[in-house]
Amino acid sequence: MRLLVVEDEGGLAATLRRGLSAEGFAVEVVADGLRGLQRASTGAFDAIILDVMLPRLSGHQVVRQLRARQVWTPVLILSAKDGDYDQADGLDEGADDYLTKPFSFVVLIARLRALLRRGAQPRPAVLRAGPLSLDPATRRVTVGERPVELTAREFGLLEYLMRRPGAVMGKRELYAHVWDGVVLGDLNVVEVYVGYLRRKLGDDAVETVRGAGYRVPVPDAADLSGRDSA
Ligand code: CA
Repeated sequence: MRLLVVEDEGGLAATLRRGLSAEGFAVEVVADGLRGLQRASTGAFDAIILDVMLPRLSGHQVVRQLRARQVWTPVLILSAKDGDYDQADGLDEGADDYLTKPFSFVVLIARLRALLRRGAQPRPAVLRAGPLSLDPATRRVTVGERPVELTAREFGLLEYLMRRPGAVMGKRELYAHVWDGVVLGDLNVVEVYVGYLRRKLGDDAVETVRGAGYRVPVPDAADLSGRDSA
């Protein structure tokens, strides 16, 4: 198994190289984010160990750009910060796991082996359907190149629909997932918010499937609506 280590602290980089090689891994070490991105983009590695604070490009930028390039190599982030916010950031951006420094080498190996078992499955961090794109990490929504401002509830509704593009979702399901609908309120609120989304994103952004619900259409794809509308 071939590993890329992106770490600018010389001592730690040398320790990682030695330890990982002793475990039987082929290890390449680079010391800055830009070089890390270049090497990782080749897709020649089975996993990447990535520091956050790096010269030229941060670890966060590296993982975002890798995923944007459709490179799905598992990434384990080494973070010097231990704030939940920082860790959540890394995972939102498409990293698979993280360890906070200082970490135990035994734990690193165990986590690494778990990632290697999972392999490089596509797992897009940015949701796309036709001209729509939605980034859960930055909460950025665009139609083509045009950025669109959504309220929190509008964003929640669109995100839920875009998690399964092409699938029809009934008002009850949407209400339950977007409005914390334990107590059933007025389902017409869903229709009202679909209206808001259409006004901001264009009439075609959300389709009504009569008697069944709503969906975000996927152009040139098979009809995925059978599950709910049959
Ligand atoms: Ca560093």
